[in-house]
Amino acid sequence: MGLVGCSKVAQTDASQANIGAGATAVPSNETPRSCRPGDSLSALKDGNRRFATAWQSKNTADTTEARAKAMSNLWLDNCYLPSSVLDKGQAPWASILTCADSRVAPEWIFDAAPSDLFVIRSAGNTAFDDAIASLEYGVAVLKTPLIMVMGHSACGAVDAARKSDPLTPLLEKLVTPIRASLTPGETLDESIQANSRYAANQLTERSAVLADAVKNGSLQIVVSTFNIADGSVSMV
Ligand SMILES: [Zn+2]
Repeated sequence: MGLVGCSKVAQTDASQANIGAGATAVPSNETPRSCRPGDSLSALKDGNRRFATAWQSKNTADTTEARAKAMSNLWLDNCYLPSSVLDKGQAPWASILTCADSRVAPEWIFDAAPSDLFVIRSAGNTAFDDAIASLEYGVAVLKTPLIMVMGHSACGAVDAARKSDPLTPLLEKLVTPIRASLTPGETLDESIQANSRYAANQLTERSAVLADAVKNGSLQIVVSTFNIADGSVSMV
C-alpha cells in the first residue's frame, strides 16, 4: 500500500541506528535516524526510570528551588538533533497510544526528545479509526518498531465507561470500545488494564498493516499502565 501525506519523510539509513536515549554524542553527519536506540522498549523503560526518580524526588521537595533541582536531571543526557536535521524529517523510535489526560504526557514520562516519540492521544486511549491510521503511518512510513498502548491510574474515561451517567452522543461513542473491554465486578485498575489490552488487540485485528508488521517481526506491540502517584510505567 502507498502511505503518503507528510511532505517530509525520515531517511531510512540504518547504519547509524545505535545511538540511543542516554547518549551524549551526536555524529557529525547526523540524520533524523541518528538518535534511534538499538532497543526501543529498553529506551522507554530507561527514560521512565529517570523520570520517576526525578518525580518522586520532586514530591518530597519543599521549596521551588528544591523542586527545580529534583527535576534538573531530566533531558540531561538525551540524544538531541539540531533543528536543521529535524527540519529534514522525523524518525520516531516508538509510538505511544495513550490518554488525553493532562497528567499523562509521554515525552515527559519517558524523558524523550523531539523526534523520539510518535504520539496519539484521546480520552481512554482507545483504538479509534484515526489512531489506527496514524499508527499505520508510523509503522509503514516512519518504520517505528514499537507501539506502546499506555493506560493510566485514575483514568476518568474508563471510570465514566464503568458508570451509566448520561453522556453526550459523541462521548457515548468514545466509551463504547471501553465498555466492550469491561468485565462486571472488576476494579477500576483492572478495567484500566483490560481497556489497554483490548485497544492493543484491536490494532492488529483491524489493521492488516500492523498485523503483518507484527507477523514479520518489524513491529512489537506492548501494553502498560502509568502510575500517576509515583511516575512509574509498569508493563501489563
Ligand atoms: Zn485517562
